[in-house]
Amino acid sequence: MSSPSAFIGPSKTAVAGLTPARERALIQRLRAANLRTTQPRIQLAHLLFGQGDRHLTAENLFSEAKAAGLTVSLATVYNALNQFLEAGLLREVIVDSGRSYFDTNLTNHFHFYVDGTGELIDVPPQSITITEMPKTPDGFRVSGVDVVLRLEPKSK
Ligand SMILES: [Zn+2]
Repeated sequence: MSSPSAFIGPSKTAVAGLTPARERALIQRLRAANLRTTQPRIQLAHLLFGQGDRHLTAENLFSEAKAAGLTVSLATVYNALNQFLEAGLLREVIVDSGRSYFDTNLTNHFHFYVDGTGELIDVPPQSITITEMPKTPDGFRVSGVDVVLRLEPKSK
């Protein structure tokens, strides 16, 4: 972020794979979620949603954006991710207090978390059975269940 190239301004760089048809589809998707369709946001959405189900931190997406030649700031990436999250285009997965993961898989599912590498791997919900739940405090009901299975190498 301290490099002078970060201040050049809006990128005119064509991001790999962002065809006019793909761009139109992304614009529709963002508009359907009531989001403004700025160029950086379209380009970030392309990087984010163009590669199947994935889990990313803001720093991961920022690195990808830089590698793709975009001149966006980390703050822009954070803002875009939080707006996508609020609009329901992403899920947030919290596995440790210091790091937020954004998940493009919106279906109900759980996660393996690899200690050390920080990788998240999807776990299908039907592979976990919760047979008993505690009684909720008065006035509350369970609104969702998050399960994170922490992994470490066998030979540790
Ligand atoms: Zn996931």
